[in-house]
Amino acid sequence: MPLLCPQCGKPTLYLETGGVMGDIYRCKNCTYIGNFVIESDDDDLSDELREARRAATGK
Ligand SMILES: [Zn+2]
Repeated sequence: MPLLCPQCGKPTLYLETGGVMGDIYRCKNCTYIGNFVIESDDDDLSDELREARRAATGK
């Protein structure tokens, strides 16, 4: 199951660190850093991504 960046929607995340704060992911395609990622294996990504972007960016 790919991990998708909540900002750019690309599967370019990699695990930055794991620890007491939890896993932190960083995106190679944009500036996103955080523990929130999208795990999706279905085709209905658009709605999911829109929700995730709103949660991540506050817009
Ligand atoms: Zn990104």
